[in-house]
Amino acid sequence: MKTLFEKKVVKFGGSSLASAEQFIKSANIINAEDARRYVVPSAPGKRFEGDTKVTDLLISCHSKSISGGDWESDFTEIKSRYNDIIKGLGIATDLSGEFLTIEENLKNGTTLDYVASRGEYLNGIVLADYLGYEFIDAAEVIFFDYNGKFDATKTNIVMSERLAGRKNVVIPGFYGSNPDMSIKTFSRGGSDITGAIVARAVMADIYENWTDVSGFLMCDPRIVENPRPIKIITYRELRELSYMGASVLHEDSIFPVKLASIPINIRNTNRPEDAGTLIVTSTDNHKSDELITGIAGKKGFSVIRIEKDMMNQESGFGMRVLKVFADLDINFEHLPSGIDTMCVVVNSADVKGREYDIASSIQKAVNPDHIHIDNNMGLVAVVGRNMAGQPGTAARIFSALAKKNINIRMIDQGSSELNIIIGVDESVFTRAIKAIYKEFYTEQ
Ligand code: ADP
Ligand code: ASP
Ligand code: MG
Repeated sequence: MKTLFEKKVVKFGGSSLASAEQFIKSANIINAEDARRYVVPSAPGKRFEGDTKVTDLLISCHSKSISGGDWESDFTEIKSRYNDIIKGLGIATDLSGEFLTIEENLKNGTTLDYVASRGEYLNGIVLADYLGYEFIDAAEVIFFDYNGKFDATKTNIVMSERLAGRKNVVIPGFYGSNPDMSIKTFSRGGSDITGAIVARAVMADIYENWTDVSGFLMCDPRIVENPRPIKIITYRELRELSYMGASVLHEDSIFPVKLASIPINIRNTNRPEDAGTLIVTSTDNHKSDELITGIAGKKGFSVIRIEKDMMNQESGFGMRVLKVFADLDINFEHLPSGIDTMCVVVNSADVKGREYDIASSIQKAVNPDHIHIDNNMGLVAVVGRNMAGQPGTAARIFSALAKKNINIRMIDQGSSELNIIIGVDESVFTRAIKAIYKEFYTEQ
């Protein structure tokens, strides 16, 4: 079929490739348009509530193999996941040699990254066979440097050369290789990043990301029932939302495509007729009246509150506090401050068990009147490009929370006015998101 777009990169998530039935849906989508030439698969995900993703089974195999546990039974389950798919598709793919290699490597103490990456690798082989597409191992075209950082320049050069002139290719998501050719994975959910890297390398017209929801929803559907889908969103808004826990798309998948101004379209494999969400650099051509684009949130933050009378007159105070965190190798998330108070918001996992070290280092660095460490905070981000220059948005959020008796522990608004971050106790986190959603979407 001749379509508007000539070149599309299509990434299919774990649920879209969890079973033969899902493979068939994905293949129908791919075959519906000639433009869908470059395909990035994830590993088979959950087939039903309570099922285990192949990646999780692989990770468990690896940890059991290290500790001398029974990894073989997990591996048998993995083999049957693939064999069921192959049988259901009626193809002749034989993965027995691949399974043997992985088993051998597991016995010989291979790395976690290698084992975790095999879910995508095997799924890529099966999908390429089923589609009749060429298979290119991601280890040959995606590179990390000596510091373990993704090497965008080398990857783009090698991958664009390798893909030039090739019509239909499957490249497994989630991993690449280190300079010594060993395997390295991105963080969890990283197949989204692979899709974006491929889109940039082939200068795709669009990067379609096929998943199990009809686009980016204004709220996590596990918190709010049936939230409205977002039709169009900017990269910047999306990054704020993804970073704050809206897990539809890996937060790092935005950079490669943003560089090349390639739009991303989030689509639903189970409802291909839905338009999904379009993610773009600028919404100039797509005006929207919505004040708020989306709400997201994460639990597990701690606030370190430092009080000192007249700290605002002490030059270098903030810098010395931040140096303490840098020296302890702790990243901070937010820095809401008052005249005599400075708060440093960090991930609780980074401070657990180190409270004494942190407090004594701050004491030495700035000699404050008081230091207080508060755990169990949830952060809620209210994101919207239309909030800028619109007075009263923050007031509406606060009154919505006040009406539900929810105490706000922290507020932070960036000067770009793209988002407002609110800290609440973890126990009222879900209620806070629901209250804000209701204020902006239901009672309009
Ligand atoms: P895939 O396996 O296709 O990569 P993911 O599980 O990574 O899919 O992402 C899709 C899931 O993200 C949805 O099933 C949904 O539960 C969750 N999610 C969280 N926040 C949102 C949101 N704001 N909009 C849509 N989905 C969301
Ligand atoms: N399979 C990997 C994971 O479960 C990567 C991905 O699905 O994007 O995290
Ligand atoms: Mg995902």
